[in-house]
Amino acid sequence: MQKRTIETKLEIYSFEELDKSNQYLIEKAKEQVQKAYAPYSGFQVGAAIELVNGEIITGSNQENSAYPSGLCAERVAMFYANAQFPDIAVKSMAIAAFTNGEFLEVPVTPCGSCRQVLLETEIRFENNITIILYGTKEVYLLENVKQLLPLCFEKSSLIG
Ligand SMILES: [Zn+2]
Repeated sequence: MQKRTIETKLEIYSFEELDKSNQYLIEKAKEQVQKAYAPYSGFQVGAAIELVNGEIITGSNQENSAYPSGLCAERVAMFYANAQFPDIAVKSMAIAAFTNGEFLEVPVTPCGSCRQVLLETEIRFENNITIILYGTKEVYLLENVKQLLPLCFEKSSLIG
């Protein structure tokens, strides 16, 4: 028997310590929470994506009375980006969440399904996607999606 430890690397910043482009992407994600449709959870999420060509794509969570029919902000934004710019790699993504009248103190993290979708985009373009997770007290910066999804299932897994 062996034991193996898998590390997730992330950097922790205050908002002020971030460079301007990351601050800008966070501001875009924060704006998006106001466009969320979240009457059931009251948990409003905004996502902002920067493509390598400088284009900014944003999305917010969209809930539905038939709960599974709704979609997270991250996937709304990423599917839109891939649909409108199928040949352009994604450079970075910022996520912010707002509930009970304020942004979360602790950085919000994507759900498992979103991690899987973000990973597919990262692999598809062979281009690391910087993940920026916003909290009012601190911001997490991850150099790629793989940090969020170790032991991931991907295209090569299908071949076995
Ligand atoms: Zn999600």
